[in-house]
Formats: sequence, structure tokens, C-alpha cells
Amino acid sequence: MCRHTAWLGRPRNLSEFLLERPHGLLQQSWAPRRQRHGTVNADGWGVSWWSPPEASSVPGPARWRSSGPMWSDASLASVAAHVAAGCVVAAVRDATVGMPTDESACAPFVRDGWSLSHNGVLDRSVLPADAWPRAESVCDSAVLASYLLAAPEELGKRIAVVGADDPAARLNVLLGDGERLLATAWGDTLSVLETPDGVVLASEPHDDDPRWRDVPDRTLVEARLHGGRVVVTETPLETA
Ligand code: GLN
Repeated sequence: MCRHTAWLGRPRNLSEFLLERPHGLLQQSWAPRRQRHGTVNADGWGVSWWSPPEASSVPGPARWRSSGPMWSDASLASVAAHVAAGCVVAAVRDATVGMPTDESACAPFVRDGWSLSHNGVLDRSVLPADAWPRAESVCDSAVLASYLLAAPEELGKRIAVVGADDPAARLNVLLGDGERLLATAWGDTLSVLETPDGVVLASEPHDDDPRWRDVPDRTLVEARLHGGRVVVTETPLETA
């Protein structure tokens, strides 16, 4: 299992959010506290973020990925300290045996303004054939991302279908479009932190703030900006 995290709220510095929390994504790349499958996440990383419209010449998200360990990337550390964003989706990877290990197989995967990360594993043969041509990689997560990003509004339904067709699958996904975040808990850990500044959805808490709460398995979480605040809803997913 990999680890992923996302932020929605007031613009937040990427270094502060991803690299400087006591148990943040960087620390989770070598010492995750709740990872059930695998021990280190050294097979790549990726960060996507949405800059304010006046700061961008093209629609977001920006995405930066690498197939190396997050801790070895000095350029990330130097640039992240100078970037702030109101929406961020990021991941570190522990590649599943048999999957490609190049950058194109590293989350997040992007399409139509969305960015998606997957923690888990699945049998790719259960995915419809039309998910393959637009997949960024033949990696299971990339083909799943292609299937899910074809209809983000059907996320809960599509996860339940894949889960029914492959009962051994672990399907924790995390996606955003700059104004909302969606996440599923399906076979692995997911936690939420709501603060007056915004919300974090993450595979595991990045610090010991008592406001973190665990999301029950088989749940869809949605976080939306509403009147200057972020509203979070949790819905049970259908199971076969
Ligand atoms: N199966 C995906 C991959 O190979 C995700 C792996 C994971 O969650 N550890 O990258």
C-alpha cells in the first residue's frame, strides 16, 4: 500500500503540509505508522496542486512526479517551500509486484482537471476495456484511475462495482478537482482532519492532533468548499 494525502481550504505551503509535519507524507515514505501492506514507500512520489487562476497560464492541476524516493529529492524540498495552494493531492508509492516502476506509473493520475491517487491493488482484468486506451500506464492504479476519471460523479458506484467483481481488491482512492475532494475507504486506512482553515484527507494522521478521526471501511468521503468553509460528508458505500 502506498500512502496519500490531500488538502482543501486556505492556501497552504506545500513544504509545511507535505514535508514538515511530524508524521507527514515525507515521513510516511520511510516510517508509515498505520500501513497494513508493505513497510516503505520508496518507489516514487507525486504532488498535484491548483494555483490561483492569476498565477497560472493553463488550467490546473500542476503535477510533479518522480520514480525515486521522496526523501532523496532535493529539488522538491527547495521548490515546495515557495509554493502555496488551496487544493493539493499527493502520494508516495510502494509498487505492487509486477507493476511498472517508471514515473508514469506513479500517482497522482490526471485528467480533465482532476487528480487521483490509489492506495491498494486490484485485478486489472475486471476493468472495462475502454479504460485502457486513456490510462497513463498499464499499472493497476493507472487503469483504475482512467476508469474512475471517465465519470467522477459515479465514484461510489464504480468503486462498489470493482469491489464486487474483485473481492480481494483494496480500493482506497483520493481525488480532487481544485474545489472538492473525494475519497474512499475500501480495504485500507483513511483519516480526516477538519480545522477552521480546511480539511485534510489522508491514509493516516500526519500528527497527533486529537481532531483526527478515522473513516469506517466501505465509506465515500466528500469535502466541498461552501461559503468560505469546507463541508465534509461521509456516505456508506454499497457492498455486494
Ligand atoms: N498497485 C499500485 C502500484 O503498484 C499501488 C500500490 C500501493 O498502494 N502500494 O503502484
